[in-house]
Formats: sequence, C-alpha cells, structure tokens
Amino acid sequence: MLERLLSKADCAACRLCCKFDSYDLWQTPVIYKTLASRILQEYSPRMEFVKRGEHFLIKMEKEQGADVYLCPLLDEDKGCIMGDDKPFDCEIWPFMIMELCGRKVLTLSPACPVVNSKKFDDVCISAQAAAAEAFAMADEHPELVRPYLDDHPILAVEKSRYKNTLI
Ligand code: SF4
Repeated sequence: MLERLLSKADCAACRLCCKFDSYDLWQTPVIYKTLASRILQEYSPRMEFVKRGEHFLIKMEKEQGADVYLCPLLDEDKGCIMGDDKPFDCEIWPFMIMELCGRKVLTLSPACPVVNSKKFDDVCISAQAAAAEAFAMADEHPELVRPYLDDHPILAVEKSRYKNTLI
C-alpha cells in the first residue's frame, strides 16, 4: 500500500518495525481472529498469541541480554514470512490509525528512519492515498484503532462514519 514511499528493499534493509523495545511493545501488530487462524494454518503452526479482548497480539521473542523483542514471523534473511499477507498494522506502518476526540485519524510514527528521510509532502500524499482503506479497515476491525499520542503528527482525519476527508 505504501509502495510510493517505502520500497521492499528499504524495508528489507531496515526491519526496525519488526523489533520492539519493552516500552513500545504496545505497537505490536493487532491480529484479529481470522488472521490468527490463517497464521497458524499457513505460516507458523506453533505461533503463540496474547489475547487482548476480541483480538490477539503476536507473542514476541525476547532477545537474550537485551531489551529487544523480535517478531517470530521475521526471517533474518527473507524478511516477514507473511509477505503481502502481513497484518494490516504492518502493511501501513509507519502510519497508525488512532482516535482523537471520537474521530479516527491517520498518524505518522516518528520512528521510521526511511520515511523520516523523505519529503514531508510525499509522506502526506501517501497518507492521503492510504486513509480511506485504513479507516474502512478500522470500521471492520475497531481493535486496529489506538488512542491518540501527541508525538504522532496527524496526516488524515475521518470526517464521518461513512465519508472520509483528508487534511
Ligand atoms: S508480522 Fe511481519 S511485518 Fe509484522 S512485525 Fe512481524 S515480521 Fe514484521
């Protein structure tokens, strides 16, 4: 979805978004039930999840002697073993769907070094292109929506439940 902004080569060389410090484990991708079943059937039969209400989080693997947690779906040589089937959170990162004053917003995580090197205008164009699909996905899977954090610039705002408008 973000091909304009992030090439597969960029992501393959970085993989920062598949590794988490303990204080940003809250950013691990949301896995809804159908996707959890698919992961177990098609990608990783021994995968473990942490239940969070109606959805799941991937149980990350702690690196020995470091405050680093790795996604078990990350292959050091090939990247994410799910390829184009990866969770929606991963597909749109560094954009994140958040809620501010009852409205969904598409925000930018400040942590992606590749996107941080791009022109902000180009980042905004990509966010606007992704917003409608992101908000529709969030309607279907509300667990994808996180509370707003004020260090995440807002790049698009949902106008109403049925119609999106972009800033
Ligand atoms: S599911 Fe794939 S893209 Fe998402 S964090 Fe895990 S390895 Fe990375």
